[in-house]
Amino acid sequence: MGMALADAPTPISYIAWRDSPPETMTPERKTRSEPRIIRKPTVQLIAWTNFQKPNDVEWTTDSKVPAEQLIEMAGRQCYESWANPAGRTNAEYVANMLDHGHMSVIEHGTATFRFTGVSRSFTHELVRHRLFSYSQLSQRFVSETDAAFVEPNVIADDPKAHEIFVNSVEQSRQAYAALNEILKTKFDDLQDKTLRRKKAREASRAVLPNAVETKIVVTGNFRTWRHFVRLRSAEHTDVEIRAVAIAVLRQLQKLSPSIFGDFEIYKGPDGLECARTKHIYE
Ligand SMILES: Cc1cc2nc3c(=O)[nH]c(=O)nc-3n(C[C@H](O)[C@H](O)[C@H](O)COP(=O)(O)OP(=O)(O)OC[C@H]3O[C@@H](n4cnc5c(N)ncnc54)[C@H](O)[C@@H]3O)c2cc1C
Repeated sequence: MGMALADAPTPISYIAWRDSPPETMTPERKTRSEPRIIRKPTVQLIAWTNFQKPNDVEWTTDSKVPAEQLIEMAGRQCYESWANPAGRTNAEYVANMLDHGHMSVIEHGTATFRFTGVSRSFTHELVRHRLFSYSQLSQRFVSETDAAFVEPNVIADDPKAHEIFVNSVEQSRQAYAALNEILKTKFDDLQDKTLRRKKAREASRAVLPNAVETKIVVTGNFRTWRHFVRLRSAEHTDVEIRAVAIAVLRQLQKLSPSIFGDFEIYKGPDGLECARTKHIYE
């Protein structure tokens, strides 16, 4: 049942850092009764492709990026076209592949990101992308007693909506902690302490909202990242996944301009950043 505005409990103050958040800042609160609120995801590129040219291949490229070298070398392997008589740059070689939809070659490049300060509703959408590999924070192993919550800006910008949000997530955090205490005693007969905690947490988490913070490590090849960015940075997507997709794109464009340089970032009709590309081969 929805809470009427008049019934909303007294507002709880919180620490906001939306305007200039340090990338890796940990949300803090002033007292134990205040929920930790997050207003911006943290997107960290943590691993990417390396490349060692085979000794028996006589070929050079102008790219200094291992993933781009690997992708060009793999593409040239198809035709043994090591000579490059046209003097094509790596960017031109890759652009030609993207133009012709020779996308499987792009799959040789990979990147791993760690997303923190993101909500469970974000990861619910993210994991629909089946070709990524995922490792996500376990709510059964890790206690959510001190959980942080991701607040959408549209709620945070409205004082009344913000008040309802803060009170609601704090209530769910307290309900979680209370349930956890009750349920732990129900499993007293279990010898295994970890299993006891796990059983209490897996039931208690039922009261946590979509907004609860989660952390996830995601590995994918460049073809899959291109697909994710194209779908999730479009104008009609959810703003949280769009913000992550744009942050991912910026880092991938820096890592590999030949593969991701065709995406253009622009302001969408809602004033937020979107991205588009003319290449829709997937
Ligand atoms: C704006 C937006 C709104 C959405 N709304 C909803 C919604 O209301 N409800 C909902 O349930 N989902 C929704 N989705 C999720 C969407 O339906 C897809 O599940 C999600 O975008 C993953 O993309 P994908 O299907 O292209 O697959 P990915 O898993 O990203 O796979 C990439 C590509 O691999 C190929 N592929 C992967 N698996 C298979 C397979 N089994 N068979 C054949 N080809 C395969 C396809 O070519 C696919 O495009 C929405 C997505 C967006 C972007």
